[in-house]
Amino acid sequence: MANRRTVIAGNWKMFKTTGEATDYAVRFLEEVKEVTDLDIILCAPFTALYTLKNELEESIVHLGAQNMAWADQGAYTGEISAQMLLDVACTYVILGHSERREMFGETDEEIAKKVRQALATGLTPIVCCGENLNLREEGKAVERVQGQVTRALEGLSTEELSKIIVAYEPIWAIGTGKTASSKDAQEMCASIRATLKVLMGLAAEKVPILYGGSVKAENIAELMTEPDVDGALVGGASLDPLSFAKLILNAVPSSVSVEEGI
Ligand code: PEP
Repeated sequence: MANRRTVIAGNWKMFKTTGEATDYAVRFLEEVKEVTDLDIILCAPFTALYTLKNELEESIVHLGAQNMAWADQGAYTGEISAQMLLDVACTYVILGHSERREMFGETDEEIAKKVRQALATGLTPIVCCGENLNLREEGKAVERVQGQVTRALEGLSTEELSKIIVAYEPIWAIGTGKTASSKDAQEMCASIRATLKVLMGLAAEKVPILYGGSVKAENIAELMTEPDVDGALVGGASLDPLSFAKLILNAVPSSVSVEEGI
């Protein structure tokens, strides 16, 4: 993991009004103000982004969205463009989350277009991949995940690929309380890095690969010991500012441990 950024990103999904986002930001910033060794990202709903832009200004916390359109602008009712995200100080965007793939029918082709759009506009895409339980039980998890990564990223230059973050999120572990073992997470993150190497050569060593799926303050430290796990994408456990801050402190090797609290 040496030489790679450690990234902890919270995915609020469809939770929090603007008032709740403001309260969260105030309490969260107080807890993480001393953190220096990792990148913290809050991926909020579109409606909370402007509020958070103001709250997080000049803080160490970066702002991200959870989706965006592949087009620049135009007659795309209900969509949000990359420019609109940049306008509210977003620097990251989650793309291809399994909830968007499964519930909203997002295809690999659309995700690939969104990744290109994000890179072209200067947003950092957090590209999600992950298998469902059937595929894992059939022994086809690696094939599925490597395929998703390849289809999202093939054709991009090494320079472009150096700007992305990949998040491995097994669908069976999202919101279920079931975390992949740190060994399973490592195996898949290593196979994602092998796929990246095919696309971009040794520069793949610099791409942060995150694990996501029921990550909590109690299991982050163990996941972080794995060489190819460079951080986490966190859903449920990012919704409470104190719990998420505790998770972040437990991800930083030199910080207080979960037993000691914060
Ligand atoms: C997610 O939605 O990206 C996620 C990992 O959720 P949870 O942490 O709740 O499993």
